[in-house]
Amino acid sequence: MLFAALSLPAAAQRERNYPVVSVPHLAKSTEPQAQVPNVVTRPGPEMEKLQMDALGWLIDLIRIDTTNPPGNELAAAKYIAGVLEKEGITAEVIESAPGRGIVIARLRAGAIPDPARALLLLGHTDVVGVDRAKWTVDPFSGEMKNGSVYGRGALDMKGPLVAHLAAFIGLKRSGVRLDRDVILLAEGDEEAGGEAGIEFAVRHHWDKIACGFALNEGGQTIAQDGKVLYVGVQASEKVAVNVHVIARGPAGHASIPRKDNPVAHLAAAVEKIAAFETPIQMQTVTRTYFERLAPLVDNDLGKWMRALDTPGRQDLAVKRLTETNPAWNAMLRNTISPTMLQAGVRVNVIPSEARASLNIRLLPGELPGPLIASLEKAVADPAIKFEMEPLARQQSPPSSIESELFKAIERTAPRSFPGAAVVPMMSTWATDSAQLRLRSVQALGIIPFPLTQEELARMHSDDERIPIDAFRRGVEFEYRIVEEFVRARN
Ligand SMILES: [Zn+2]
Repeated sequence: MLFAALSLPAAAQRERNYPVVSVPHLAKSTEPQAQVPNVVTRPGPEMEKLQMDALGWLIDLIRIDTTNPPGNELAAAKYIAGVLEKEGITAEVIESAPGRGIVIARLRAGAIPDPARALLLLGHTDVVGVDRAKWTVDPFSGEMKNGSVYGRGALDMKGPLVAHLAAFIGLKRSGVRLDRDVILLAEGDEEAGGEAGIEFAVRHHWDKIACGFALNEGGQTIAQDGKVLYVGVQASEKVAVNVHVIARGPAGHASIPRKDNPVAHLAAAVEKIAAFETPIQMQTVTRTYFERLAPLVDNDLGKWMRALDTPGRQDLAVKRLTETNPAWNAMLRNTISPTMLQAGVRVNVIPSEARASLNIRLLPGELPGPLIASLEKAVADPAIKFEMEPLARQQSPPSSIESELFKAIERTAPRSFPGAAVVPMMSTWATDSAQLRLRSVQALGIIPFPLTQEELARMHSDDERIPIDAFRRGVEFEYRIVEEFVRARN
């Protein structure tokens, strides 16, 4: 794969503690530069310097261990504030809880702010934990190896956060005249619910981040055979609901089997729940996703994608598509995954209770009540009770795929990556965009780095890493998107 094939100078490869400033220029990609000429003539920051600086910020941020819990995001917030201040940008660090915090900065278009027009660049600084034994490098070293920067958060989402930071700083450095305010918010606690991060920011500091548009994580820029196939832009997301299925009955000696054994009742219930099929529902974002993806995939898959909207062929189409990619099924319906089982204290005792936990993911606009009622009906066992946990995140409405921000991405993508389509997406997992969409913000999720599906799959995984060539291209791509959206036209 071309994006991963970039080779670094041998000296840089050997250097464990990568000194960003003194390292020779990274090897140029052998691919032709994917820009139309008119981009070059615009005023802009010195892109190569911005990309190199961004690489340094990424490595520094990876080295700040923000594993959540406990988070320790305050250190990352202070680091980012330091980077901004060196660029002459005032940054405010706010402690949200001991050791935790957010950083906010703003580039002003004029004396009077117009929140409805402002663009927020949003990213989280916390990361998920690591299983150190499974890593080939120290996950918090930011080590460069085989043309990639390794480290927890390289993809989720210190890399994308640095792309936001670079776009923000790029605007300042270039002196581009702004048509709207641009706000940077780096927050924390995304990986554990958002209480000390986005919730804190929107509840207590909305006045500082009020905006009409936002760019966050959640999308993907898919590379295949060395070319960008499409830019996936997250415009909506599912919401998670945890439900416990509980079987109760009298406890007893295992030597005397009973029909009301809760373990047996629960097992039968879980089997029925696993087999339960929710109806297929096409929403604007998913309908457009499949329409735009259909011409990009092989003929057979494309045919099934087009059949999704044909009555009578829908079920077969979903079946075929699911065989290729189970995520497609999850985008088309509410889903239920049994994830935990709990029962018994001793092998020779029939327990009085057995529990299963279900992780349900609802499409935007769907309520948990009716789905749980249909599960109860499918299980049809009075010994089984369903208990729902309170929602960790609220349902949020989808963002429009006709907003000015979406259109700016649609204009920019084919200039940066000729031939690339822009495809709206619904993520099957939650992001901090939900809290913004609930405040009528047109929030969109991107990951600007051209990566293959295999490379993207390393998020949250062992040896998480980002190819440096993809990182550089992503930094430039995101700058172009943001500049296209915020630049004053006259
Ligand atoms: Zn993330």
